Amino acid sequence: MNIILLGPPGAGKGTQARFLVEERGMTQLSTGDMLREAKDSGTEMGKVVAGVMARGELVTDEIVIGLIREKLEGEKGGGFIFDGFPRTLAQADALGELLNDCGEALDSVIEMQVDDEALVARITARSTCGNCGEVYNDNTKPVPADGKCTSCGELAEFKRRADDNEDSLKIRLMAYYKQTSPLIGYYHAKGNLNSVNGLGDMAEIKTAMSDILDK
Ligand code: ADP
Ligand code: ZN
Repeated sequence: MNIILLGPPGAGKGTQARFLVEERGMTQLSTGDMLREAKDSGTEMGKVVAGVMARGELVTDEIVIGLIREKLEGEKGGGFIFDGFPRTLAQADALGELLNDCGEALDSVIEMQVDDEALVARITARSTCGNCGEVYNDNTKPVPADGKCTSCGELAEFKRRADDNEDSLKIRLMAYYKQTSPLIGYYHAKGNLNSVNGLGDMAEIKTAMSDILDK
């Protein structure tokens, strides 16, 4: 089964993708993570995208489609969770073709709905474990006082993303509404669209997603 998680920055796509990986053995393909890896490892492409990402703008379709193509050719099994991709209509068309070429289908698109106010509050309070990627929130799930991650148990460095600040976030939200939200209509027309309320607690959202995937 191959699915897309669609939603604005901070909607909780990454968190839910982690659950699906653990419980269903699916493979998460996050273009945001791939781009951050390229940036951290200092590749030429990483240097090109670093500024674009920090400002909150979208990286070119060519680059992200290339990243996804490589992964689809390299990995198999368990089904893919596309997280943060596609983000434009051109990327959606390209994904359709790539899946077609490798004999795969798109089974479901799950749109996670969260209002802007909650997104801003979540993102500006967010940090992640540098070791395992566990997500913390200054208000609802603060970093442990002893500095040990509750998920991996390591004495970790807790990182904040360069683009998790109010200025970049405004641009990321605008990019979402302008360039990505048309995909809601696109997948609705294809008959693939499902929506969940992304505001409840994590377990509730997880159940709502399972109901969609198992129906
Ligand atoms: P979020 O959804 O929280 O904004 P991501 O980790 O998915 O974060 O993406 C971070 C940044 O990486 C985006 O703001 C954008 O610059 C870039 N990016 C990620 N995926 C794509 C994509 N599919 N197309 C273009 N740019 C992307
Ligand atoms: Zn950890």
